Amino acid sequence: MTTKEIKAFGTNSEIEPLQKMKIERRIVTDHDVEIEILFCGICHSDLHQVKNDFGGAMYPIVPGHEIVGRVTAIGNHVTKFKVGDLAGVGCIVDTCRTCNPCKEGFEQFCEEGMTFSFNSIDKTYGGHTFGGYSECIVTDEKYVLSIPKTLDLASTAPLLCAGITVYSPLNHWKIGKGNKVGILGIGGLGHVAIKIAKAMGAYVTVFTTSQVKVDDAKRLGADDAILSSDPEQMKKYAGKLNFILDTVSAKHDVNIYLNQLTIDGSMVLVGLPPEPLSISAFSVIKGRRSFAGSNIGGIAETQEMLDFCEKHNITADIELINIQDINKAYERLEKGDVHYRFVIDLATLKN
Ligand code: NAP
Ligand code: ZN
Ligand code: ZN
Repeated sequence: MTTKEIKAFGTNSEIEPLQKMKIERRIVTDHDVEIEILFCGICHSDLHQVKNDFGGAMYPIVPGHEIVGRVTAIGNHVTKFKVGDLAGVGCIVDTCRTCNPCKEGFEQFCEEGMTFSFNSIDKTYGGHTFGGYSECIVTDEKYVLSIPKTLDLASTAPLLCAGITVYSPLNHWKIGKGNKVGILGIGGLGHVAIKIAKAMGAYVTVFTTSQVKVDDAKRLGADDAILSSDPEQMKKYAGKLNFILDTVSAKHDVNIYLNQLTIDGSMVLVGLPPEPLSISAFSVIKGRRSFAGSNIGGIAETQEMLDFCEKHNITADIELINIQDINKAYERLEKGDVHYRFVIDLATLKN
């Protein structure tokens, strides 16, 4: 396998800031697409990985899995893309392709485990994977998405992870007209979830710890907003919601939200608090409620989500940053001070 050296931003340990570094990318093989990265979103998972919140981090880490750009080279057998096309890469860059989940389009549940776009052992080419805070990415076309031409490109990048992570459970639990939905945590995932759940026809109320976000929730499309620290406001939807999507990134009391569900209502966790959550038996036995989880989404479903977002003109609300400002952005992300997704302009990597 031949490789070339490219510019990237990453870190050599959990205590060092992100900085300029060089990494190797393979030259396209038969089924590969090379994408010049134009924009990459910053997901809270990038921060969890850099901080080694879940253990097993492989340094150097070059984060980034909300990648959009333009195809610059294709392998001899590529059929889905041509040079010049807009293309994207999300969280998954490889799976076994032969297990039942892979065959059914649930690559996120591959029995052999997924190869993530960064910080993951590369079973095919060796070493570990590097993500989208870099000049280009080379990925098998099977895991590359077509990006709608009509949406703003930088604001589309976050759909590759935030978008699919919230679309998949809303889709699986068949959210639509007549459903009352709660969205918990209005960050990158939560604010896209408001837009998608509304486009699916649901009545949407958000639960946030921030008064500023309560005031902004209607602009984002929500029907109502509740300040979760106010017990009086928390009474309004008690026992009334059919479905809650929990996107909170840190430890929190899930019981106060389970109590917002109707009989047979479901609360689905997509946030990844590093510490275990505790659930009182009464929160679920009362009302035969379900507490479940969901993990990104498969490749076909990600394409379906992008098409849905194009149809409904849904993108993320972003703050576009220069890559040199990445460490400041991480500090703000840690404090929940983002409106509502940082996206890196990779043109600034050339500076
Ligand atoms: P984010 O932009 O940082 O948003 C997280 C939100 O959670 C914050 O904006 C805040 O909302 C709320 N929050 C944070 N700390 C809190 C605390 N101590 N108590 C209560 N609320 C708190 O993060 P994100 O990028 O949307 O990601 C959210 C989580 O999903 C992360 O853990 C990420 O790793 C995970 N994730 C999971 C998947 C998956 O497949 N399951 C995919 C992508 C990301 P308010 O200010 O509104 O309270
Ligand atoms: Zn993510
Ligand atoms: Zn598989």
